[in-house]
Amino acid sequence: MKIGILSRNRKLYSTTRLVQAAQKRGHQVRVINHLRCYMNIASFKPSIQYDGKQLEGFDAIIPRIGASVTFYGTAVVRQFEMMGTFSLNESVAISRSRDKLRSLQLLSRKGIGLPVTGFAHSPDDTEDLLNLVGGAPVVVKLLEGTQGKGVVLAETRNAAESVVEAFRGLNANFLVQEFVKEARGSDIRCFVIGEKVVASMMRQAEEGEFRSNLHRGGTAKLIKISPEERSTAVRSAKIMGLNVAGVDILRSNHGPVVVEVNSSPGLEGIEAATGKDVAGMIIDYIERHAKSGKTKTKGRG
Ligand code: ADP
Repeated sequence: MKIGILSRNRKLYSTTRLVQAAQKRGHQVRVINHLRCYMNIASFKPSIQYDGKQLEGFDAIIPRIGASVTFYGTAVVRQFEMMGTFSLNESVAISRSRDKLRSLQLLSRKGIGLPVTGFAHSPDDTEDLLNLVGGAPVVVKLLEGTQGKGVVLAETRNAAESVVEAFRGLNANFLVQEFVKEARGSDIRCFVIGEKVVASMMRQAEEGEFRSNLHRGGTAKLIKISPEERSTAVRSAKIMGLNVAGVDILRSNHGPVVVEVNSSPGLEGIEAATGKDVAGMIIDYIERHAKSGKTKTKGRG
């Protein structure tokens, strides 16, 4: 097969591993910087240009789109979809997962356990909003942050009001969430491929920190997850429409709650913690599912 990996940096661990895994299985693989792709979107036959040449003949693409370039990156994925190329995760699903509020709304509609979460626009409603989620301590989150940036713990009501005011002053969209303190700074990353959790790890935040992101100094260890956690992760990925996802779950005293569904989950932490060949499993999935024109949404919202 001819596989394209949409990634801005071929030296990243995840990109390198996917290239290795694809080559090991005898596939032709090319790393494509999606920001260097350009398109004639009005032409009758959709195509993508790169370095003066047309990108042609790809059976599948693996989008590894960074959060800061979601808009352009998903447009490139959509163009591939319109050309009939199979995308490991579809553009519509990637866009959905990048908006925390939209994701939570979709998950909640299907009965997935979530931290109690509120969203409001008007400053007049701040007090009520905080009451809605059970009062301080609360976590305030920017809707489009990643790697723990824009996720703030407000331990007192005063602090919560100040953070909410500050975010509003910046015209930023945010949500306010119950602080799941019983998780004690740890969360569970479930790596989902298709209908299975293929690897999972527990991440523990650094001392004095509540965010367990590995980019923020969190450490990972192997963990056995419960059947409920397993099914929560698989269902969450499915609801978002993602074939591959990193589903982050907190162990709350009201059961497993999902905080995030990531459409480009990193491979380094999970492969190191579990010793599994997750990159190889992704390529296996593509071998089984990449059929031309099989894209479900073809870029439709
Ligand atoms: P990001 O997308 O920026 O990683 P998350 O919503 O996943 O943001 O939050 C980052 C980390 O903060 C989570 O992995 C988790 O450890 C912690 N966290 C997030 N929400 C809560 C919450 N409501 N209660 C307790 N800890 C939380």
